[in-house]
Amino acid sequence: MRETAANSWEAKAEEFSLYGFTDLPSVHERGTVVLTHGEGPYIFDTHGRRYLDANSGLWNMVAGFDHPGLIEAAQKQYARFPGYHAFFGRMSDQTVLLSEKLVEVSPFERGRVFYTNSGSEANDTMVKILWFLHGAEGKPQRRKILTRWNGYHGVTAVSASMTGKPYNSVFGLPLPGFIHLGCPHYWRFGQAGETEEQFTARLAAELEATIIKEGPDTIAGFFAEPVMGAGGVIPPSKGYFQAVAPILKKYGIPLIADEVICGFGRTGNTWGSQTYDFMPDAIISSKNMTAGFFPMGAVILGPELADRVQAASEAIEEFPHGFTASGHPVGCAIALKAIDVVMNEGLADNVNRLSPRLEAGLAEIAKNPNIGELRGVGFMWALEAVKDKATKTPFDGSLSVSERIANTCTDLGLICRPLGQSIVLCPPFILTEPQMDEMFEKLEAALKKVFAEVA
Ligand code: PLP
Repeated sequence: MRETAANSWEAKAEEFSLYGFTDLPSVHERGTVVLTHGEGPYIFDTHGRRYLDANSGLWNMVAGFDHPGLIEAAQKQYARFPGYHAFFGRMSDQTVLLSEKLVEVSPFERGRVFYTNSGSEANDTMVKILWFLHGAEGKPQRRKILTRWNGYHGVTAVSASMTGKPYNSVFGLPLPGFIHLGCPHYWRFGQAGETEEQFTARLAAELEATIIKEGPDTIAGFFAEPVMGAGGVIPPSKGYFQAVAPILKKYGIPLIADEVICGFGRTGNTWGSQTYDFMPDAIISSKNMTAGFFPMGAVILGPELADRVQAASEAIEEFPHGFTASGHPVGCAIALKAIDVVMNEGLADNVNRLSPRLEAGLAEIAKNPNIGELRGVGFMWALEAVKDKATKTPFDGSLSVSERIANTCTDLGLICRPLGQSIVLCPPFILTEPQMDEMFEKLEAALKKVFAEVA
């Protein structure tokens, strides 16, 4: 247990702030971490301790914590004009430029962009857009949303309803009409004797059976992360999107790619949907889009949905949706710079150059008898802890194995994230080889210590 002086930063943080996704009654037992500044991929706390953030903040600080170009882009725009909305036919020049850029780098030949302040709001907005256009097209009953168990789409009432995590039941969620399909994690959910292809075919059959049972004309859209992030870094099973996309098309159900984590390079391509070779009808973006330097999300509509929204709003002479800070000029200026930094200043190249090294180093660590699976792609990976590798038996939940590993890493100066029984690593794109080695060494030391304690 860490001592906390009554007047310390930690005590004040605990007294006055609510931490998200934190065990509030016992947070003081470990002690909170109050951060003061950053340097590259390192973040420092009020005691001067340095942490290599192998989680890039929350997957988003891909250019590190002090990128001068991004700071300059923000400062320049603050000096020009510090804020404006995108209502009533007005928007900032930076917003115009960013929309043009997002459509240019999207997989769509044409498209239109709507801005939010977060990924949750972008998913929420996308659901409203679908409800709006189905209603305008004379199909107001098309309201149900299909997502997957373990998928994460955010925390607003609608996006939390899309999220396939049991903890949302404490809020009385999901709302009616949000349907969760099977998680495409073959290692964990494949049945005895089932090949990966058969597993994928089973999930595709489940999708079609669900559509038929619910009634195709009651379904508004299907949302999926190319790689599930907060579900524990779960790449799709072999051929998953190739199997589900034609079924969705057959029933006229839009396929929305939630690229909040995967977008802008995390999987090694600009979009996760490129890595997994499917064409969505719209993309949800956030996080990396501003390299975490500004809270911002975007809905990027492909040509068909863009045209349908245009037609739907013509009918009522309005698109009745918008946030005060939608298309914030500072956020847009930062996003323009962040996209340039990631795509043209070597960050995406660094991911591609170093991801084989990252995979190889983690594969070495995964030889540990208590690591059941290493999974991931690009710069997003998870190691799943197991009590028994052969039977994939998890540790007793009361041992909190992944939390102990993450806490031990924090004590060693490495931030990584426990998700279920997995440890997630999604380092910033600026990571160097020596920093990667530091990550491997600290992680391995933490695994050895905790597995020795719980074995
Ligand atoms: N979608 C995905 C795939 C995410 O990973 C997240 C956040 O982690 C969200 C949506 C929600 O984004 P935000 O936390 O900005 O609301």
